[in-house]
Amino acid sequence: MNLKTRLLHIGNVAVGGNAPISVQTMTNTPTVNTFATLKQIKECAELGCDIIRVGVPDFASAVAIKEIVEKSPIPIVADIHFDYRLAIIAIENGVHAIRINPGNIAKSDQTERIRLIVEAASKAKIPIRVGVNAGSLDEDILEKYQHPVPEALVESALRQCQALEQFNFHDIKVSIKSSSVHDTVEACKLFESKNTKGYPLHLGVTETGIPEDGIIKSAIGIGALLLQGIGNTIRVSLSAPPQEEVKVGLKILEDCGFRKAAVEVISCPTCARTCADISGSVSDLKQRLQQLHLKKPIKIAVMGCMVNGPGEAKEADLGLAWNKTRAIIFKKGKPIKAVEAKTAVDELMDFITNME
Ligand code: SF4
Repeated sequence: MNLKTRLLHIGNVAVGGNAPISVQTMTNTPTVNTFATLKQIKECAELGCDIIRVGVPDFASAVAIKEIVEKSPIPIVADIHFDYRLAIIAIENGVHAIRINPGNIAKSDQTERIRLIVEAASKAKIPIRVGVNAGSLDEDILEKYQHPVPEALVESALRQCQALEQFNFHDIKVSIKSSSVHDTVEACKLFESKNTKGYPLHLGVTETGIPEDGIIKSAIGIGALLLQGIGNTIRVSLSAPPQEEVKVGLKILEDCGFRKAAVEVISCPTCARTCADISGSVSDLKQRLQQLHLKKPIKIAVMGCMVNGPGEAKEADLGLAWNKTRAIIFKKGKPIKAVEAKTAVDELMDFITNME
């Protein structure tokens, strides 16, 4: 995390400063259907989501958000476009932050409308996230650069910050997203080099597609930035339920070393020496381990042969390695028990259960 950033609070979640990097997603139910929206929010919260964004496309949604805020276990960010009145109603109804693009608030009397939003947010003591997307750049900026290149995205982000700063508002979080991994990473890096006010940055690659494509794009884009110390909150955008986005977001944080996985299962890539169904054994083991709700984090290795397996996986707390007829359970690379090949996963599970 970037220690130079300001510390904001979105409800009870600290963002920026030295706060942990938080995971966000966005509901995809109609906001007016408060029952379905709250169900989705609760499921995301149970999976580990820290903050959730809810679209407010109309007045009925801005009104419905009151009940959602009251019953949600995690802070709510209202996503507003075009109509400043929706932002003000959502703020009055208790949202913990709003996300706007000041440039797309209706053009007539725009400055005054932005002032009214800022006034309401200041009074409610909530942050505003300004969001720049490659697909919604200001016309003059697009004309200047011809394409939504990183420089254009950053100029737009700085302009959006200034639109709030002119009213002495600095409780700002910034997001800069493109469907291009490269442009997202370059734009966020460029913004960081100009981020003299220390605004926290929300990371994500947008419109990444279905999970098979989007998980990889998101992991590369978000991961590349996190590993350079850039980013304070993350959202994985997938054409999939938000619950899936949360799971992937958490995995990215774990694999970048920002969260400790409760259970990490590593396994070998398999080769001509492999003596067992490694992929099947890993799936089976992961499924069973998830149900155990272990108190302490554990790293388990599943290795296809006894020749190389235990040695290669000596960093793991526990592991399994097979030969043609038997398997061994090993601890930090040292064999501790020989077991039947067929029941090796059961034996390892017994061992872990007894350790608890
Ligand atoms: S651990 Fe053994 S089976 Fe697995 S890839 Fe290495 S040599 Fe092959």
